[in-house]
Amino acid sequence: MRLEGKVCIITGAASGIGKAASLLFAKEGAVVCACDVSKEALENLVQEASGLAGKVDPYVLDVTNREQVSKVVEEIVNKYGKIDVLVNNAGITRDALLLKMTEEEWDAVINVNLKGVFNMTQAVAPHMIKAGKGSIINTSSVVGIYGNIGQTNYAATKAGVIGMTKTWAKELARKGAQIRVNAVAPGFIKTPMTEKVPEKIIEAVLARTPLARMGTPEEVAYVYLFLASDESSYVTGQVIGVDGGLVI
Ligand code: NAD
Repeated sequence: MRLEGKVCIITGAASGIGKAASLLFAKEGAVVCACDVSKEALENLVQEASGLAGKVDPYVLDVTNREQVSKVVEEIVNKYGKIDVLVNNAGITRDALLLKMTEEEWDAVINVNLKGVFNMTQAVAPHMIKAGKGSIINTSSVVGIYGNIGQTNYAATKAGVIGMTKTWAKELARKGAQIRVNAVAPGFIKTPMTEKVPEKIIEAVLARTPLARMGTPEEVAYVYLFLASDESSYVTGQVIGVDGGLVI
């Protein structure tokens, strides 16, 4: 098993890519501390994970709430003694054209997708520094690389995630610490986040995608798995596209 004995925190763990990753990591022997705002969806995830080699331990957590974040991270460290992997996967969209975007829409996306990643990493990093090792995986997007009409807020956060990834890859590796920080940039993936995208837009994106189809959550989860495992022990500061070739 590729993650046997590893303690992994995954945010946004109860749906889409986070859910696929939680199940895959548990199958590979990890203790998955599954964090999400949705209690009900977490309960379903735990049921689905029963019988897998590892386990899914659910935590109702809003990544924008710094008090909750530090409480949950302390609870996990007290329970398991360490954190090997952090996957900053939670993310939302609130789309609108620049001239129509409200301050609320801007703030909501910045808070979850950018500040949430900062909150989680700031709480987890001291434990990885103490252990001298760890792997942090941040979920960016192709939108953070090439922009997208109607996604000013989302593009800002996903580009910001790439900046934080490269900064932390340098900062957290000081004094010989084997702490790796990488980003994954998915393209168009079939999850609840994309289920309301109009058919016309899907067709236009697929026409520009060499593999000419949407990706599955599992196809992203497998890249998280590689970055979480010791197989990627010399990979840090990278942005790995999982986009069917959309950004070439
Ligand atoms: P999803 O909507 O299926 O799942 C997101 C999960 O995050 C949900 O379970 C939700 O409850 C949780 N969440 C939302 N706000 C939260 C908060 N404040 N604290 C904790 N959890 C919270 O979305 P998905 O498609 O699986 O997206 C996962 C990640 O992948 C996101 O960061 C998203 O931006 C990114 N991404 C997705 C796509 C795509 O095409 N689906 C493409 C590029 C990037």
